[in-house]
Amino acid sequence: MYYVSTRDRLQKTTVSGAIAYGLAPGGGLYTPEAVPSLAGNALNTLKNMTYQQRAVYLMNMYLDSYSASELTSFCSKAYGGGKFDDPAVAPVRRVDDTTYALELWHGPTCAFKDMALQMLPHLLTAALRKEGEEKTACILVATSGDTGKGALEGFRDVPGTRILVFYPRDGVSAIQELQMNTQEGANVGVCSVVGNFDDAQTGVKRIFSDPALKEELAKRGYFLSSANSINWGRVLPQIVYYVSAYCDLMKEGALEKGDKLNVCVPTGNFGDILAAYYAKQMGVPLGRLICASNSNNVLTDFIQTGVYDRNRPFYNTISPSMDILISSNLERLLHAYTFGNAEQVKGYMEQLNSTGRYQVSDEVKKKLDKDFAAAFCDDEAAKAAIGNMWREKQYLIDPHTAVAVDALEQYRAKTGDAAPALVVSTASPFKFCPAVMEALGGKEPAHGLDSIQQLSDLTGIAAPAPLTGLAGKRIRFDQTVEKEQMVAAVREMLR
Ligand SMILES: *Cc1c(COP(=O)(O)O)cnc(C)c1O
Repeated sequence: MYYVSTRDRLQKTTVSGAIAYGLAPGGGLYTPEAVPSLAGNALNTLKNMTYQQRAVYLMNMYLDSYSASELTSFCSKAYGGGKFDDPAVAPVRRVDDTTYALELWHGPTCAFKDMALQMLPHLLTAALRKEGEEKTACILVATSGDTGKGALEGFRDVPGTRILVFYPRDGVSAIQELQMNTQEGANVGVCSVVGNFDDAQTGVKRIFSDPALKEELAKRGYFLSSANSINWGRVLPQIVYYVSAYCDLMKEGALEKGDKLNVCVPTGNFGDILAAYYAKQMGVPLGRLICASNSNNVLTDFIQTGVYDRNRPFYNTISPSMDILISSNLERLLHAYTFGNAEQVKGYMEQLNSTGRYQVSDEVKKKLDKDFAAAFCDDEAAKAAIGNMWREKQYLIDPHTAVAVDALEQYRAKTGDAAPALVVSTASPFKFCPAVMEALGGKEPAHGLDSIQQLSDLTGIAAPAPLTGLAGKRIRFDQTVEKEQMVAAVREMLR
């Protein structure tokens, strides 16, 4: 199976090429030339498998340059060995008769990034071997919180890799900062940057385009690579949990094979909901894909009007992982909806680059209307959703999940579509204690690690071990640099 660039149909590569090098020449995203279909009885077969077995079966359909035994080993390393605190890995919880939550935060960093970032290092190092790349991959990440910690945990002590994370000194939560600064592993480095997320991100981009550094690192046996969600190796592991959730609901009798299941996804970079789209294309009977945004509602407007317009104010919200105005993975959906018309997709992306805005054709808009719906909510509504869910269902959710809960409610009220729905739950509420405390109408929220205990005391729910365990951890990284010094910091960390 070939992977083709969204912006240039002549740029084709194998899946290992796509994963090893991430971005296609010319800036397009590698996308499967054709989405494979599940055989008629596949869901029944998958139903009786473990999560790891399902992952092997499904990823194998896309990874033809990998052997089944490689995949078996990767899946057991990524999802086995007690790394996830629930044997189901991605368990489905019943919320009410027609609403289910897919909990994707049982991994080592308590956010859904683990689902892909526990797998990516295995896929990537094997891809580099297959491509004959002998240098050590130095993964650079600029993070506003969840991705940095997820990548550090995923790549720690993975042979043939180094991982360096830059985060904005004043732009992450106290808990996220502790998670990163106490990171263990011999191949990891963490550094904060004076400024906001954009400063860190711009600095990382500058490092990637520094020819002198590139040459120096090559001499020392390194090349720079990225772990962000434009890499196919991050989208693919996310397809698995949608198929898996459908199978779990069949298994417990909540769905008959063929029943429609709507899906509501809290969305930022459009990676998670894109994986749901691929699962649907493969033949999982998913109904409407509901895209949930916070006040940065560029995607809601796009899905409703066909106009993508990033010229708007940026808001810092209580769901920071969705505070994003350029959703990179949307490009892969446009590729699908234009039948791979690279000129058309490239045109949209060039308009986005130059004017911050583009409008899709009527044909694309019609397809959007068929598969997707969208709604957004602000912080107040998200907090209300957390409070209501706790009081009415004794189910504790984080602010990102709350946005999806609110969006699903809006969708149901507006359309009357009462089909069963799966809400994707993307983070443990204990990663965002102060906002959750406020939502529950508790006391004045405590700070840092104290806030974890406070939320636990209020709700009677034990916080995940990776978060309570932070208390006893040694701070290994406390370096802060100006953004102009980031190149020097990379040299230093690779010493
Ligand atoms: C990254 C993230 C999201 C958004 O996912 P995308 O794939 O970027 O759309 C939502 N919630 C949480 C907690 C996240 O970390």
